[in-house]
Amino acid sequence: MGLLARAGAELSQRAEDADVIVVNTCSFIESAQEESVNTILEMAAHKTSGRAKKLVVAGCLVERFRDEIRRRIPEVDAVVGTGELEKILSATGIEYPAPRTAPANNPLVVLTSRAEGDARAAQGRFSREGWDGAIADLPNYLYDEETPRVLATPKSTAYIKIAEGCDHPCTFCIIPQLRGQFRSRRFESVVAEAERLARNGVREITLIGQDTTCFGEDFGLKDGLALLLEKLAAIEELRWIRFLYAYPNKITGRLLETIASSDKICSYMDVPLQHASASVLKRMKRGGGSDVFLRSIAKMRRAIPGLTLRTSFIVGFPGETEAEFEELCDFVREAQFDWMGTFSYSDQDGAAAYGLDKKLSTREIERRRKHLMGIQRQISKKKKKALVGQEFDLLLEGISDETDLLMEGRTAMHAPEIDGKVFVNDFDEGLEPQPGEFYRCEITEAHDYDLVARIL
Ligand code: SF4
Repeated sequence: MGLLARAGAELSQRAEDADVIVVNTCSFIESAQEESVNTILEMAAHKTSGRAKKLVVAGCLVERFRDEIRRRIPEVDAVVGTGELEKILSATGIEYPAPRTAPANNPLVVLTSRAEGDARAAQGRFSREGWDGAIADLPNYLYDEETPRVLATPKSTAYIKIAEGCDHPCTFCIIPQLRGQFRSRRFESVVAEAERLARNGVREITLIGQDTTCFGEDFGLKDGLALLLEKLAAIEELRWIRFLYAYPNKITGRLLETIASSDKICSYMDVPLQHASASVLKRMKRGGGSDVFLRSIAKMRRAIPGLTLRTSFIVGFPGETEAEFEELCDFVREAQFDWMGTFSYSDQDGAAAYGLDKKLSTREIERRRKHLMGIQRQISKKKKKALVGQEFDLLLEGISDETDLLMEGRTAMHAPEIDGKVFVNDFDEGLEPQPGEFYRCEITEAHDYDLVARIL
């Protein structure tokens, strides 16, 4: 969006108003692929019966089915993979006014890799051989601080992607084949971007990447994420900084100390564990198990007082026995997460787990998902109730999506978009709460996942 806007395009969210429609796609699991294809077909109708002259498909579906998209959906004029973002201009037919050239001593992007990633590459982890319709080249693109951006988030909050790709061997996941080998953005580039965002009114930064905890390893940096967090916390205008998607065995003591030592770095950890049974985790090629994870959670809670802990699990992995599932349920009861997501295993052609036998029925997977979420609902209810009467800083987001009568916001315990909500139903007469501003609030009511607060 930033590249297009800088080149003079006027952005519209209404497909019926657009001359060029860009569909940005996901290809992580089958349901995402279906949703992407349905959206492309829906948008193609604007070309035949509406104003649109061009239809461009971008993103991960292009990495998976590049040739097939063009062959099967003739309305598509151009495709843009995740590694060729800057081609969005030629694809849409908009000329780039002045192409960027990197100064000789300051390359815009330095491509690096981790030894672990190189070894996995040699073993074929990133191979797309056998993927019908995909091209062989892996994406290696990274944006930098000069890349123009249009924020799609409310003005006070922004995501910053600090790395791309993933070197892990998880057998259910094709993200490494879609996104390529792990590579970090330059440290200074991330800081420069955060400074610019902060100058433009952003107060909350969420660092993302397929694997944020490996940040800097490809540059030989030790504890790169901790160093980056420290540096970002020194940016005066920023109030909240957090990162998502920590890989369990990459959480170092230094990282925990860094989080604990700064008021600006949210006491919030998102560690997708995927399962708790050692045998299932072994089949997932992730390692760990309930005992190891419980010890690690205790360490995190000791190091960071008041820690908010989020995780996610996959249920119904091939061969998951009733006993293995029960182990996961017991683990969830014991670990007492603040936030938890559960995903149903989805068979994905091209992932190693696709070839495993003893697949579970969709019905059984759904039963397990509901059962696990039922356990978490009770935990969440109890945890949210304990917050009643406590005071927190709240970032007001605006009128609630659910009713015009309430406003809603988030505390540092709530990452944008994924966690529960805080509804605001009470504030002093005369106060006109403004979206994007912080307010001190008191929690007055608790529901299973959501909270109600009054501005003090
Ligand atoms: S760490 Fe995450 S992105 Fe990487 S392979 Fe595993 S599930 Fe996929």
